Amino acid sequence: MAGDDTEMSDVLQCTAVTPAPPYLTHHLHLPCLSHLSHLSYLLCELGEHDQRTEHAARLGAAETPDAPAPWFFWTGAGPERVHRAEAVPWCPAVLRHLGTGVVRRCTFFDHHTSSHSWGVTDPLGDLIAEGLVSGEDPKGWAQP
Ligand SMILES: [Zn+2]
Ligand SMILES: [Zn+2]
Repeated sequence: MAGDDTEMSDVLQCTAVTPAPPYLTHHLHLPCLSHLSHLSYLLCELGEHDQRTEHAARLGAAETPDAPAPWFFWTGAGPERVHRAEAVPWCPAVLRHLGTGVVRRCTFFDHHTSSHSWGVTDPLGDLIAEGLVSGEDPKGWAQP
């Protein structure tokens, strides 16, 4: 295969979801753990990828924008799941909007696979936001 082209073709976000291991909230000493308290499921944030590539979900922000951010990586599901959590450097890629000069930084980690964050469309994220992927109960929507 000849090298990747840099053309921005949108890819769908990987749909992998995994339960967050209970130790996670205790394991990571992060400045902004507060949002983790409701984090019972982790979503792979990468664009679709092959099965040998680890899924990856960012666990929070870094202490400074340039500091490594905590990520959860996993492969497999259920009892087969293999996972690790560690802080990894950001992907250095940036996207500059030619019209406005606004620069977007890739929100993934360095050496990630698939597209940069701006090339990934996120259909599942919207569903999560609406509470559609909240677990076992199909009709048990409750207003928070
Ligand atoms: Zn994935
Ligand atoms: Zn990137």
